[in-house]
Amino acid sequence: MNDLTFKSAAPGYWADENISPEDWNSHTWQLKNSVKSLEQIEKHLTLTEAERAGILLTGTKLATAVTPHFFNLIHPTDPSCPLRRQVIPSIEETHIDPSDMKDPCGEDSHMPVPGLVHRYPDRVLFLVTDRCASYCRYCTRSRVVSGVSDQKLETQWDQAIEYLKKTPQVRDVLLSGGDPLLFSDAKLEKLLRRLREIPHIQFLRIGSRIPIFLPQRITPALCDMLKQFHPLFISIHTNHPDELTSEVRDGLGRLADAGIQMGNQSVLLNGINDSVEVQRDLVHKLLMCRVRPYYLYQADLIEGTKHLRTGINKGLEIIEGLRGHTTGYGIPQYVVDGPGGGGKIPLNPEYVLEKNEERVVLRNYEGKKFIYPEPVETGSVVN
Ligand SMILES: *Cc1c(COP(=O)(O)O)cnc(C)c1O
Repeated sequence: MNDLTFKSAAPGYWADENISPEDWNSHTWQLKNSVKSLEQIEKHLTLTEAERAGILLTGTKLATAVTPHFFNLIHPTDPSCPLRRQVIPSIEETHIDPSDMKDPCGEDSHMPVPGLVHRYPDRVLFLVTDRCASYCRYCTRSRVVSGVSDQKLETQWDQAIEYLKKTPQVRDVLLSGGDPLLFSDAKLEKLLRRLREIPHIQFLRIGSRIPIFLPQRITPALCDMLKQFHPLFISIHTNHPDELTSEVRDGLGRLADAGIQMGNQSVLLNGINDSVEVQRDLVHKLLMCRVRPYYLYQADLIEGTKHLRTGINKGLEIIEGLRGHTTGYGIPQYVVDGPGGGGKIPLNPEYVLEKNEERVVLRNYEGKKFIYPEPVETGSVVN
């Protein structure tokens, strides 16, 4: 078993730069000092040629930015560091594979209003900003986030709210982007209030990686504001147990204390979290942080991300390695977004060995066989 302690990310590399704890713990300082340039990155990391070239070349599609908090967690010399590979570009991102797609989840074709994706009958995905605290190299929305690509996210606020008002089948609104928690408390509060004024909207949720990249943003004031809008869930995004530092745990604790239910969404990434051991440590740490693993995503076919994808068998093997072996609450649903716009399709290891009208032959997590007799229609009841 790996080390499951919650280490602090507090000023390691910055220790020699005289940062006051007040600055370090301020989210505005963290964002202002976000690491973006080759010069800043090279000051602390020994880069490979592929990373160096990547930093110089990939910025036209997806910006590079890493908060000091997260940057401090990156191994300074090891290019295979699982945190490093999520945020530091590589020249491999410029290799476009024939299987890659610009918009693999078919979001652009499911927008009744710019910024609002309505794919499922009763819920919508509302893309409220194109900015994030740090940029993930495998981003599913790299075509629109970060403001450097050709395509711009042009959310039509009033039109989106109007659409929701006149579409009563929508009972669930998921705010995402970009990262909605980058908004000021006042701006986010105004938006949540407008949504809460719509009577048929029962359920609100926010998708955010801020608790991981910028835990300083999870202030008591933010938590107090959010808790007015219950039921409100937050889906966080964590891929590796080392992302869960003591600062992250404390921020998640504040959200949980505000009554916010949290789920985690992970993306299965080649060489980063594609083993049962890493995933087991991740889900155990998440449960300690009061977060329930929600989805494990098969990586989308985003342009320039083939080097980060695994085969589907890997995901099935991970679920198989978790189910039965650890807490059921710790097991995410493995899903693949059907390429082209199929939505989330669940994938599960096969536990049914044989099935006919009379019986189903099953196996358990240890591979032992069990028979469940089907309630067969016998025609007449014999007493
Ligand atoms: C993921 C997603 C949702 C939410 O799906 P759940 O399974 O309810 O979490 C809604 N709309 C879109 C377009 C999505 O991609």
